Amino acid sequence: MTTEMPGPVELVVASANPDKAAEIESILAEALGDAVRLSARPSGISDVEECAETFEGNARLKAAAVTAATGLGSVADDSGLEVDALGGVPGVRSARYAGEGASYADNVAKLLHALSGVLDRGARFRTVAVARFADGRELVCEGTIEGSIATAPRGNGGFGYDPVFVPTEGDGRTFAEMTASEKHAISARGRALRALAARLRDELGR
Ligand code: IMP
Repeated sequence: MTTEMPGPVELVVASANPDKAAEIESILAEALGDAVRLSARPSGISDVEECAETFEGNARLKAAAVTAATGLGSVADDSGLEVDALGGVPGVRSARYAGEGASYADNVAKLLHALSGVLDRGARFRTVAVARFADGRELVCEGTIEGSIATAPRGNGGFGYDPVFVPTEGDGRTFAEMTASEKHAISARGRALRALAARLRDELGR
């Protein structure tokens, strides 16, 4: 008797941001190999308004929209920066902290202004990653990285708040002063996606 191996599970990467989509694909492909076939978000799907009050809620909105439009499983994530002295702000509003359409530099400038003279500079990035299957089943994983907010931006790598985020488990450099692989090894997104890959492997029985 021959035992047929199940074919790959098809998952659509819900992120419309090509850098994030590439990062999600490389982490999942490395962990899951042939067990999944990943495809890019079809260009015809319109952007989802990220109106939930939690990272999990926003990740779920993005994944559910792609699964509804394609009939396929999907993977989505949502992230942000939580600053202790600001009670967790900017949090889910990290992308638009300095207003709708704000640039990364605008957001960083607003953050440094809000923290001027503040000694407690503790902060963390938090990411929630969601895999959603066409039958409504879901896997949810979270990753965090603790750190502190520098008093001025340093470095040219990364994006967003990277020039002012100094991870506690690093050597004093900001994320923007690290290589991409150094950052991804400890980033909240890297951690959430590696945890999700492990859960997917169990779920798919591979
Ligand atoms: P998203 O949900 O991953 O698109 O992240 C929302 C916002 O959080 C981004 O626009 C950035 O401002 C910030 N952010 C998320 N992840 C990172 C990171 O790894 N480094 C710096 N900023 C980040």
